[in-house]
Amino acid sequence: MKTALDLTRKPDLPAVPSSLAGLSLPALKTQMETLGVEPKKAGMRAKQLRRWLHHFGATDFNAMTDLSKDLRAQLSDAHTLSRPEIAEHKVSVDGTQKWLVRFQPGVEGESVFIPAVSNKTGALCVSSQVGCTLNCTFCHTGTQKLVRNLTAQEIAAQVLIARDALGEWPASVEGRQLTNIVFMGMGEPLYNLDNVAEAIDTLSDGEGLAIGRRRITVSTAGVAPKIPELGARTGAMLAISLHAVRDDLRDEIVPINRKYDLQTLFEAIRAYPELNNSKRVTFEYVMLKGVNDSLAEARDLVKLLRGIPAKINLIPFNPWPGSPYECSDWEVIEAFAEVVNRAGYSSPIRTPRGRDIFAACGQLRSESVKKSAAEKRREQLAAG
Ligand code: SAH
Repeated sequence: MKTALDLTRKPDLPAVPSSLAGLSLPALKTQMETLGVEPKKAGMRAKQLRRWLHHFGATDFNAMTDLSKDLRAQLSDAHTLSRPEIAEHKVSVDGTQKWLVRFQPGVEGESVFIPAVSNKTGALCVSSQVGCTLNCTFCHTGTQKLVRNLTAQEIAAQVLIARDALGEWPASVEGRQLTNIVFMGMGEPLYNLDNVAEAIDTLSDGEGLAIGRRRITVSTAGVAPKIPELGARTGAMLAISLHAVRDDLRDEIVPINRKYDLQTLFEAIRAYPELNNSKRVTFEYVMLKGVNDSLAEARDLVKLLRGIPAKINLIPFNPWPGSPYECSDWEVIEAFAEVVNRAGYSSPIRTPRGRDIFAACGQLRSESVKKSAAEKRREQLAAG
């Protein structure tokens, strides 16, 4: 018998997601319609489901007492509520937790929960892609080729996994530790903006995961044309991985700068909607010894930021095996911070967290590799 292959569909993603957990409200509605729920009622059923899935963190259709028994039976025949498999879970001596999440066989990405230290905000750092296309020279993820974009559901599922581990259901529970989301894991979120925006709708839904848009930060290495669009579509906070204040150096260490130089980048930042003192841009600046850490550069940084409501996050460089840089000396980082501070900008030095479990900024990497279309087809055929 000949096996017919449907090449119009992406070969590695099922047309109907088997799990509903993490799906956006519009996607849940589509699934209800696919199940045969009459169109007039599909929206309402989707809203009920959303509350069970993302407010209560339900893992069993039987708990959904406001849905008819028939619908519950139909749902459990067609779907599950499972999360992606956790391939590895590590806890640091400082309380940081890291998950290696297997989105599908051979497609693994990392998320990191960074608990609060002095204030009451704990952040989950999520990945938007497996691998990355950017090749920033100081970043470990940059040594892993792009495997693929994560779907909106896969991005939201990282939050479900963290809430499960923290036992924070219902999602709006008083005193919860997971209060913020940062898109600072693997990948470049603005190269996957459709899925990132859909995931942010799911995360920020007050009837669901209930993490306000002002508590969600999206970090970009500088995909300038997408920056204002990010603001308009998501209302999220913006972070920029700056790391250099001159084009020649930034061309080298953040190579996307060759495409969108500093001037283009800063025009896009100034066009970010609603910037003011309560909605500031975060500039991340990794401190690389002898590369970008002079006081002259600190002064140029201040000039570059003129007129932009900003805070600067100085990140001590986190080493990884074979990394070509060293972290600046502590006194140098402090002196750099002092210049920036005196100009009126808050410039906290980011304490490295989770270094012992390789969860700190720029240390994330998985073994996943992109397979050729031919390899995928061969695997599909073998699996029948
Ligand atoms: N691609 C996006 C999202 C990743 S954010 C972006 O570049 O903004 C990850 C942050 O960690 C970025 O600011 C990145 O520059 C920083 N980083 C990467 N490698 C690092 C390292 N080895 N030490 C410290 N920070 C690093």
